[in-house]
Amino acid sequence: MVLDDLGTSLRSSLDTLQGKTRLDEDDVEEIVKEIQRSLLSADVDVSLVMELSDSIETRALEEEPPGGTTARDHVLKIVYEEMVALVGDSTALPLESQTILLAGLQGSGKTTSAAKMAWWFSTKGLRPAVIQTDTFRPGAYDQAKQMAERAEVDFYGDPDGDDPVEIAREGMEATADADVRIVDTAGRHALEDDLIAEIEEIEREVDPDRSLLVLDAAIGQGAKDQARQFEESIGIDGVVITKLDGTAKGGGALTAVNETGSSIAFLGSGETVQDIERFEPSGFISRLLG
Ligand code: GDP
Repeated sequence: MVLDDLGTSLRSSLDTLQGKTRLDEDDVEEIVKEIQRSLLSADVDVSLVMELSDSIETRALEEEPPGGTTARDHVLKIVYEEMVALVGDSTALPLESQTILLAGLQGSGKTTSAAKMAWWFSTKGLRPAVIQTDTFRPGAYDQAKQMAERAEVDFYGDPDGDDPVEIAREGMEATADADVRIVDTAGRHALEDDLIAEIEEIEREVDPDRSLLVLDAAIGQGAKDQARQFEESIGIDGVVITKLDGTAKGGGALTAVNETGSSIAFLGSGETVQDIERFEPSGFISRLLG
């Protein structure tokens, strides 16, 4: 991480350390406060922010900067290391045959992410297919089909079907030639029991290699309950954060990562199938602290 990755206030607090070789408590307190401000306004959960600030404070005051390192570079390194520990590495996604199940509330961006992820896998030389099991939301079938066409990937859905588990079963058979099957599921506006029961049945049917929770970057505290429920029902291996092209910084998703003991897999930043990237800690950290 370089200073340019940080927001103006944090950068200027660090700049005041210029030329110093030792940090005093006031310096550290000032920097930690700036970090707290940035993270809280990025929707990072307050208890995560507090844990992080405690670690930064302790390390900055206790660890001796290695010879030749300025106090500023030393603290910058500590901040970066602690931020990496907070956001984690990207979810492991081997480039091999697999089934991925997507979970999330309605409007979180599941259908869009299914096509985007399929496109991403196709750029890695694999043959992906999207299976659309959402019989709940009107228009979900057409939207998924269109997006799969734009991504130029295989697609299975049944516009007349009303049993998502049946569609999932047929979809697995119909896409037997694909390497990577991405199974899109129905969302609801809230975590209703029938939603959970349905996704549990689909999970049993398709037996996914990994299940990813799709979250809108603007999600705040709501991330916790959702993450816990989906973790308990199907087990969550990773998180996809969508709509990072908006103003939200996506820090709320870290609550879900923490709650599920998982990591971030992909970031979505637009409405077209190419608007997706694999999660990578340093860019996301700059965004949170920017
Ligand atoms: P689902 O109900 O979870 O399947 O959500 P959709 O995939 O239908 O997405 C809901 C809305 O969010 C749609 O209008 C999408 O075009 C939009 N959307 C999804 N991902 C992104 C994103 O990364 N950026 C932007 N700007 N819009 C997105």
